[in-house]
Amino acid sequence: MVTGQDDQLQADILEEAMKEAIKDPNLVSSILHNLGELGVQGQMGDATVANPERDASYITIYSTLDGTPSTILRSMAPKTLRKRLPSDNTVPREKRGQLAFSLVQNISPVVPEYPCILHPENPMREWLDGHGLLGKVCYKKLTSQFSVRRHVETRHKHENAQIKEEEATERDREYREYQRATVELLKERGRRAT
Ligand SMILES: [Zn+2]
Repeated sequence: MVTGQDDQLQADILEEAMKEAIKDPNLVSSILHNLGELGVQGQMGDATVANPERDASYITIYSTLDGTPSTILRSMAPKTLRKRLPSDNTVPREKRGQLAFSLVQNISPVVPEYPCILHPENPMREWLDGHGLLGKVCYKKLTSQFSVRRHVETRHKHENAQIKEEEATERDREYREYQRATVELLKERGRRAT
């Protein structure tokens, strides 16, 4: 429940909700519902926002930076919604210091499209299955190759070590085969020369 000390926050939330409602009138009822859930009271245009006394314990909020939804305890919402984006170069200039979360999703979230190395869609999947990682599957998709590497290093330490070792063994074997073939070739040439 947003308390009386949070007047500024209430005003900010209402102002933001108002802006969203103007952009898309279809959102008005869900905005009103969410505001009510939060115990935000006030006037939004012609609509009066009131607590509908619902007992839903969770609420979905959205990152104003990338649209990512998060489900949080309703009791945590006043605190979470008060968070602001940092005023540094980790944030685009126009968003610095702005509220970090919104009750409506006003940006399409970035769709993660890079599969974890253990994802069934990974082109290496067959190779992995044949090298002791059959059944070791992860369905996570991430937003960049870099994130995939970080994810694999932190979440799949054991599998990652195993993959590296299998790759090294394979390179080793290929190298020995190459060496043997080279030696054979040289011997063959030697025989022809005599
Ligand atoms: Zn994974």
